[in-house]
Amino acid sequence: MSQAETRAPRTPFSFELFPPRSQAAQDSLPETIQKLAQVGPEFISVTYGAGGSSRESSLEVLRYILEQTSVQPMAHLTCVGSSHHEANRLVREFLDAGITSFLAVRGDPPRGAIEGDQFLGDLRTASELVQLIHRVQTERAQYATVPSRTAAGIGQIRSNRPKVRVAVATFPNGHPRSSRVNQDIDVLLAKQTSGATLAITQLFFHADDYLGFVSAATTAGVVIPIVPGLMPVTSSVRLKRVLELSEEREPAELARRLAAAESAEEQFEIGIEHSIALANELLEGDAPALHLYTHNTHRAALSVLEGVGLVDSSATALTNSKESV
Ligand code: FAD
Repeated sequence: MSQAETRAPRTPFSFELFPPRSQAAQDSLPETIQKLAQVGPEFISVTYGAGGSSRESSLEVLRYILEQTSVQPMAHLTCVGSSHHEANRLVREFLDAGITSFLAVRGDPPRGAIEGDQFLGDLRTASELVQLIHRVQTERAQYATVPSRTAAGIGQIRSNRPKVRVAVATFPNGHPRSSRVNQDIDVLLAKQTSGATLAITQLFFHADDYLGFVSAATTAGVVIPIVPGLMPVTSSVRLKRVLELSEEREPAELARRLAAAESAEEQFEIGIEHSIALANELLEGDAPALHLYTHNTHRAALSVLEGVGLVDSSATALTNSKESV
C-alpha cells in the first residue's frame, strides 16, 4: 500500500512565501505561485516586513493569490514599532483588500534595539495584534449587514458578519528570548485566549522537538491545532543562514552530509531526504497538517510532499528540470 493510500483523507498542507526583493524575483513569482496552487494547499501565506517595510509588496502578492488562484491567501502582519492607529489602519487595509486569513506576529526589533526598549510600540505582543484583528473585523463587519425578507415581513436585518481566521507563531525549541522553558507554552495559551485558531511553528530539525512541545502544550490546555513549519534545507549555505536567523541548534548529521556532498544537486537530494524523513515522523505522530517554507521556489516543497505521499509525482515531474536548486 502506498503512503498516499494510507493517508486518507489527505493531511492538509500549506506554503509560505515572502514578497519579492528584485525585479527578477518578481517576474518568476507568479509561476511559482501557480505551481504551488495547483496541488491544492489549504492556504499560501505571505510574510510581512516588521516595521511595514513590505506593506505594498506583500499586499501585491496576496492580491495575486486571491485573484489568480483558488487558494486562500494568508497575510502575515506584524505590530512591532507601530501605534494603535497605524496597526488599526493596516488591518483595515488588508481586510478591505479581501484578505480574511492572517498570521499575527509581533515582529523582531530593528537591528541594535534592546528587548524591552521603546521599540515595541503600542501593541507589545502578538496576542494584542490577534485581538486587534478580530476587533477591527467586528467593527467593520457592522456595515456588512443586509435587509432580509422573513415570514414576519421586511425589516429584519440578517447579520452577515464573516469571521476572520487568525493564526499565530509558536516556538517548539523556545523563542530565542524566552526566559524559561514553559514561557512559550504560556504565550501560546495567551494567543489562544486572544482568539487565535491555529499555530504554526518555527522550523526545527528533529521530530521530538515538535512532538514533545505539542504534548506539553496540550497538557497545559492548548486546543488549537499546532502545525509544524518545515523548511527543506537544500545546501550548506542555506543551512548556515537559516541557523543564524532562527538561532536553532545545528542538526549535526544533516550539516555533515551537506558539507560532504560533491554537487549542488547532491546537496538538494540530501536536504529533501532529511525533510521527507522528518515529515513522515511528524505525520506518524499525528501532526494535523504541514506548513512548508518555500523560499519562493516550488521544487523543494513539492518534492517533500511527493515523498510523503501528499501530492503525486506529476506535480514535480514537469518542473524539476526548470528550476535551479
Ligand atoms: P510574541 O508572541 O508577542 O512574543 C514575543 C516575546 O514576548 C516572547 O519572548 C514572548 O515570550 C513574550 N510574550 C508574548 N506574549 C506574552 C504574554 N502574554 N505574557 C508574557 N510574555 C509574553 N517576523 C516578521 O517580521 N514577519 C513575518 O512575516 C514573520 N512571520 C513568522 C512566521 C512564523 C511561523 C514564525 C515562527 C515567526 C515569524 N516571524 C516573522 C518572526 C517573529 O516576528 C519573531 O520571532 C518575533 O520575535 C516574535 O514574534 P511572536 O509573534 O512570537 O511574538
